[in-house]
Amino acid sequence: MHDTTSPDDGWALETLAIRAGHQRTHEQEHGEPIFPTSSFVYGSAAEAARKFKGEEPGNVYSRFTNPTVHTFERRLAALEGGERCVATSSGMAAILSTVLALLQAGDEIVASRSLFGSTVSLFDKYFGKLGITTRYVELSDLSAWEAAITPNTRLLFAETPSNPLSEVVDIAALAEIAHRNQALLAIDNCFLTPALQKPLMLGADLVIHSATKYLDGQGRAVGGAVVGRDKELEEVFGVVRTCGPCLSPFNAWIFTKGLETLSLRMRAHCENAQALAEWLQGHPAVARVYYSGLPDHPQHELACRQQTGFGAVLGFEVKGGREAAWSVIDATRMLSITGNLGDVKSTITHPGTTTHGRLSEAQKEAAGIGEGLIRVAVGLEAFDDIRGDLARGLDALL
Ligand SMILES: *Cc1c(COP(=O)(O)O)cnc(C)c1O
Repeated sequence: MHDTTSPDDGWALETLAIRAGHQRTHEQEHGEPIFPTSSFVYGSAAEAARKFKGEEPGNVYSRFTNPTVHTFERRLAALEGGERCVATSSGMAAILSTVLALLQAGDEIVASRSLFGSTVSLFDKYFGKLGITTRYVELSDLSAWEAAITPNTRLLFAETPSNPLSEVVDIAALAEIAHRNQALLAIDNCFLTPALQKPLMLGADLVIHSATKYLDGQGRAVGGAVVGRDKELEEVFGVVRTCGPCLSPFNAWIFTKGLETLSLRMRAHCENAQALAEWLQGHPAVARVYYSGLPDHPQHELACRQQTGFGAVLGFEVKGGREAAWSVIDATRMLSITGNLGDVKSTITHPGTTTHGRLSEAQKEAAGIGEGLIRVAVGLEAFDDIRGDLARGLDALL
């Protein structure tokens, strides 16, 4: 066995993404193998007894552990700088398992208002039913976070930068607020990935991933992960093992392969997004561009401090409201009209009637989701082709 996991070697992220976490079998394979098996066998009754009791390490059943899933977990833990990672069947399963593991009836969550839609439904509809209540605050307003905390608050939960307006919260300051109030801080790091932001290094306790997005990066598989300290992750592991939202070995293999090109892809995504944001800002049909990589973004300095890139999700407001926004979307021939993101293929959506469509008019206004707002998750096609596809509809508005 040749164990190539060794974050202690001080390897750079690019190296860890390619080398960390793979324990070669006696076959001496170069590429990471897939173990498509539900269960594992033992050499003797005594060995089976020891493994079932947990006295001896080793695989028992793939709902508990699987070597392919474990490779992905160890690699992602190394990239985020966490002690341990637990993979899950989706990003939502990662959030579900984390909260089920660490909170109980009577506990409270304080979360940013601008969260992924299903996360809000999970918090309100399902955790609410279990007696876990959530209060929402403005993402970047630290005093609002502080004010929403009560003695029952156990978890602070944020996505930064936000979708689709690219707002940013100071993770180190939020971690300080959480810890001063005996609460944990979880950051959903989907939009930036460890290639651009490492929340644990800034003081967060838990990182949540939808691996479906940039970790895979090619829109092929659904999965998720939680990364953090052994102490909390052992509890999360218990939930996944018992309740069953485990990751399939095949998807874990896809994600491990995805991680190998993560840095390269994120750099290229950011370059395309930055160029697009700057071009949109100069277009006369565009009223406003939301992207933390623009120098006039209100939290540009903070974004520069805690991120090594600005990601590839941007919002822009066209003049002329919903009709104008829809006409720009309908004029595209290449961009995919879909709410998904984190793919090599660029996607475009009208948040007001899709991802944020279930909000009331008042909620949309409070969240800054205007009728003319368009979100683009910038992919890796040639920049000129992405720009050309958007220029068709935008130029027609003039
Ligand atoms: C997609 C997404 C999720 C949910 O992930 P799934 O893999 O779809 O379950 C959670 N948070 C963010 C920010 C996302 O974009």
